[in-house]
Amino acid sequence: MAEERSLPDIRMTDEGDNKNPEPISTVKPKDTLFGNESDVTLLIRYQASMVLAGVGDALGYNHGRFEFCDSGDLIMKDIEKKYNGIANLKPNERSEFMLSDDTIMHIATAEGLVKSWENEFELLTMIAIEYVNCMNDMGGRSPGGCCMGGTDMIRKSLDSDKSYEENPPFVTPYNRKKGGCGAAMRSAPIGLLYSHEEQMDQLMKVAIEAGRMTHNQTSGFLGSLATALLVHLAIRKVSPISWGRIILKQSQRVLQYCTENDQYHKDISHISGDWGYFQKSWEKYLSRRNILINDGPIDFKFDYWNGDNPDIPSYKNHDKFVTEISYAGWGGSSGHDAPMIAYDAVLYALQVRERDGVVKGWESVCAFGMFHCGDSDSTGIISGAIWGAMFGFEAYKANHERLEYRQQLCNLAEQLYFRSEKLLVDDPLRPVKHDELDVCSAEI
Ligand SMILES: [Mg+2]
Repeated sequence: MAEERSLPDIRMTDEGDNKNPEPISTVKPKDTLFGNESDVTLLIRYQASMVLAGVGDALGYNHGRFEFCDSGDLIMKDIEKKYNGIANLKPNERSEFMLSDDTIMHIATAEGLVKSWENEFELLTMIAIEYVNCMNDMGGRSPGGCCMGGTDMIRKSLDSDKSYEENPPFVTPYNRKKGGCGAAMRSAPIGLLYSHEEQMDQLMKVAIEAGRMTHNQTSGFLGSLATALLVHLAIRKVSPISWGRIILKQSQRVLQYCTENDQYHKDISHISGDWGYFQKSWEKYLSRRNILINDGPIDFKFDYWNGDNPDIPSYKNHDKFVTEISYAGWGGSSGHDAPMIAYDAVLYALQVRERDGVVKGWESVCAFGMFHCGDSDSTGIISGAIWGAMFGFEAYKANHERLEYRQQLCNLAEQLYFRSEKLLVDDPLRPVKHDELDVCSAEI
């Protein structure tokens, strides 16, 4: 019986608190979705996207207690009992709600993106080096097997006697077992770097290649693309109801890129055979929400409510949904469903925010994006990144001040912001032709 169960003991590490958190600009809450007038600057939304990504990971992880708990209902009861509600959850440097592997690799992606690089090869090499280096900071953070295995392969390539040109260190072989969420959980910074409509081609290429470094399987690297796109579209203020369709359309371009335009990977024989699972899963999900062909109305009743009352959430029903859309029972642990669960939680939270205000909106992002029966930290980092990109810090001001690596996340956000503007003018990755750019704008 659920009432008699308890969460596993917390795995504590203690390396002290962040003594001098730097202040971040905060803003007045707004009660309008993407209102015409906003006090939230674009730079603050970049900062919030990076920081709330870390918050989502830290809360969803909770030293593994929440990540590996198979009941959202149990997690929510634990939060009520120990913290008196979501509003009192405060990520703390390592002593409580430390960051997991997700944010460490998310930071590594951002570090690679903002390094000095002159071409695509150099950029991908920078990201690969950051992925290898970040593995030195995984104590107590529960890194995934694919990420560890992939970075081991990259490390060996970097250390080999062959030149990088002869043996590109970011290239790993295709592996049908690498469809997990490890690439999706760390690709939000790519959506921040390539945040303009004109940068869609570069976003796709970098998201796919960065994802393939450890997750060279279709669902694995398409998950990387999906997360990058969600954050990109949030920054651009594209209507959220169309995001799933845009993910589907952009993902369909990837097969052509992998089979015809990719210049690095020689073994592409399995890609066509594995193709389709990601798209079919997303089509099924979007149909469930009535947004595959239509713009809703979205019905959350059976997956989020207890009975007919929207004021009484059902974490058990949501767990059922999370499990149903999963590959093998652990929702959010695959490339296709980690961004899907995060996106769905954001769509639901938008309705709550509109009805009950900004605080309840953020708490819904947490309840359904970060606390469920599945891979809570990976869906947590994605949902936090999206929400921050949309609204800045809004209702969530003070509670992130002791988040581990908070200042680094803010600094990287600023660098991504300025780099994005610079690349808009001069980008070595910009393709000569832009004949497919209308794929996205047609949906807005
Ligand atoms: Mg993790």
